[in-house]
Amino acid sequence: MLVVMKLDAPRADVERVKEKIKKLGYTPHEIPGQERLAIGITGNREKLEPELFLNFPGVLDAIPVTKPFKLVSRDFKPDNSVITVNGEPVGDRELTIIAGPCSVEGRQQIMDIAFTLKEIGVKFLRGGAYKPRTSPYSFQGYKTEALVYLKEVRDVTGLRIVTEVKDTETLPMVAECADVLQVGARNMQNYSLLEAVGAQRKPVLLKRGMAATIEEWLMAAEYILNGGNYNVILCERGIRTFEPSTRNTLDLNAVPIIKKLSHLPIIVDPSHGIGVWDGVVAMSLAAIAAGADGLIIEVHQDPAMALSDGYQSLKPSKFKLLLDKLEQLAPIMNRTFTRNTVNAEIVQ
Ligand code: PEP
Ligand code: MN
Repeated sequence: MLVVMKLDAPRADVERVKEKIKKLGYTPHEIPGQERLAIGITGNREKLEPELFLNFPGVLDAIPVTKPFKLVSRDFKPDNSVITVNGEPVGDRELTIIAGPCSVEGRQQIMDIAFTLKEIGVKFLRGGAYKPRTSPYSFQGYKTEALVYLKEVRDVTGLRIVTEVKDTETLPMVAECADVLQVGARNMQNYSLLEAVGAQRKPVLLKRGMAATIEEWLMAAEYILNGGNYNVILCERGIRTFEPSTRNTLDLNAVPIIKKLSHLPIIVDPSHGIGVWDGVVAMSLAAIAAGADGLIIEVHQDPAMALSDGYQSLKPSKFKLLLDKLEQLAPIMNRTFTRNTVNAEIVQ
């Protein structure tokens, strides 16, 4: 149920409706918008009657919401959500470009690529410290050691750090050095982890599970918002289909569908989506043309030597050419793309 308040409803009227919701044993969520102020209700198992609220002063309408996801839905919040990460907005007109290696492989490696990417104009650095891999024999990340390097890189470069949180135990440590907590495809339905990232306020990048429907993905996001953390960015990273010639099938259909169903920003990961480096530029441009709010791309100085996902990583030179193309594409899509212009100082 969504209770829509009149635009000029005094604060006391809003509070009275919220009190009523709490008295009924449910949770009110205030959802301010440009056109209206609404109060979403969650926690009810049975259908609520609009009459419960319609004769409260200040109430314009009470609309039952039939979709299984509520807080993430456009029905609850018609305006796009803009998530601010250290002063940088995600989900407004500006395209968000996150780039970096799949894994943090050492202090020098992550420092070098961070400075290179900053010079190219990137504002967000990715790099995994914890790598939940399909095989237990694959590289699992340098864990706490990598977190130390990421923290140092953030301090020295000012880049915003996007890194994966693998479980609830390591969440506090990862949150210390992450500006955005990535929940990976393999963890999309790890409900303890979703609840834990929902209970804190750092922005979360929620990747789509490799066999998750759009509805299941939105329900996973709903867990995080239901915990009180509204700072969620969705990430389409490809799904498993019958097609064996690419690692995954990048489901760009998800972009317009998510835009219709949800107010949350959505970015696309073409690296994992197609799984081969020479397809990444094409799929990046296609994702922005489809309406994505940004991209997360794997970039490595020496892809052949990468400890994970080298075959799908771009060299910095190729990545720079992609950014040049994005600069041309952005205005066509009524977006802006402003490169980081702060000069990187080489600190050894
Ligand atoms: C990654 O970003 O390196 C990664 C492991 O992604 P995903 O969870 O989408 O497989
Ligand atoms: Mn990877």
